[in-house]
Amino acid sequence: MLSNPLASKNPSTGEIQSRQRERLADAVAHARAHSPLFAELYRDMPESVTDPQMLPVTTKPGLMADFDRWTTDRDITLDQVEKFLARPDLIGTKFLDKYLLTTTSGSTGRRGFFIISADELRAVSGPAYSPSSIGPLLLPIRLFRLLTKGIRTATIMDLAGHHVLNSTWVQAHGTGNKRHQRYSSLQPLSELVAQLNAFDPAIVTGTSGIVALLAGEKAAGRLSISPAVVLIAGETLSDEERASIIREFGAHLVDVYAANEALRLSKSCAQGWHHVFTDWVVFEPVEADYSPTPAGVLSHSVLISVLYRRTQPLLRYELGDAVLQRPDPCPCGSPYPAFKVQGRTADVLRNEEGAPAVIAQVLVRSLARRVDGVRKFQLVQAGPSALQVRMLPADGLRADELWPKVREELKTLLAEHDLAHFTIELANEPPRISPGGKFRHYLPADA
Ligand SMILES: [Zn+2]
Repeated sequence: MLSNPLASKNPSTGEIQSRQRERLADAVAHARAHSPLFAELYRDMPESVTDPQMLPVTTKPGLMADFDRWTTDRDITLDQVEKFLARPDLIGTKFLDKYLLTTTSGSTGRRGFFIISADELRAVSGPAYSPSSIGPLLLPIRLFRLLTKGIRTATIMDLAGHHVLNSTWVQAHGTGNKRHQRYSSLQPLSELVAQLNAFDPAIVTGTSGIVALLAGEKAAGRLSISPAVVLIAGETLSDEERASIIREFGAHLVDVYAANEALRLSKSCAQGWHHVFTDWVVFEPVEADYSPTPAGVLSHSVLISVLYRRTQPLLRYELGDAVLQRPDPCPCGSPYPAFKVQGRTADVLRNEEGAPAVIAQVLVRSLARRVDGVRKFQLVQAGPSALQVRMLPADGLRADELWPKVREELKTLLAEHDLAHFTIELANEPPRISPGGKFRHYLPADA
């Protein structure tokens, strides 16, 4: 087994805990001194707080509803933020000349706007925090591939909108860089496969759902790329998907667990666990009543305190993922606690031959883009080839009025993705939040 030359730089568990306490005290002091909202929330707190459990829980809807008082820079207003986000030409540019401003897709039912400066992120830099510190870990064959392919990178994502992958990609590469290409995750799989074959990337980045589909294309002989490194983000992979990706691509797999709220949150290890940087992020798995979930038990949700954030404090904030903490030390030797994330699993629709065709969420996003007047869609798999559509119309509109257009666009989309055999019908109920409190774009038959 290759040893990690960076391992010696790891802090001890005790050092991690004491750094966490110091940084929490600083973050709380800064938030209450500069955010009117947190000043009010922490009014009755003692002067120095080193125990996160003393703090009240915050949520995205609660913070978003008081946006202008939340931030610590009085130049930031919700009005300016919305104007910036409405302009696609500003993707990847700096908000107010210094901030990265990104928005969540709204999978938890409401959009969130997140603002951070380069200075804040710089605090969490260095080898331990960088997903790109993998060069020394590569097997010679993979390193060879990386170099012979000129370190060409292909990133597969939704190309529209100020979401974090898009904004950070454009910021890093601009739009005319031949070595770094991005591809739409919303296009038909066959087109994506043709584009990747033509480009032959050394590094591929995509959500786990897309990458798992591509592994299937590689197994079927339609995809011919052989990347050295595959980075996956987003939904958690099943063990079979993980094994299939490593087997099909022969690549070093980096499984990134991060969020708009915490861009540098964790690092995955070869054992398939995410080690959370608890010297910079307090990570508390909790039950529905916010009492702590013990290690070894799947939590209802997780609260995070992001200790490097200053512009927009996120302290004891409900992230919403169901997580499982490993109860024993991870064999990889990392001093950071190890987690698996169960919350964001990819859901795939299959074609008539039973082969994976598309991730349901991709269909929902494409549909939302093609149809106006619907605030929220939810697809429910009602049978092996039957879908029900739940819709929440915009104010003043009715689902049955919007349905003919939705039906036509969804039929077209299904056909584009080799799923023309699916029947579709309008559900007689609106989209629902799942028992875990998360909004899911798609509910499989057994949900
Ligand atoms: Zn590990």
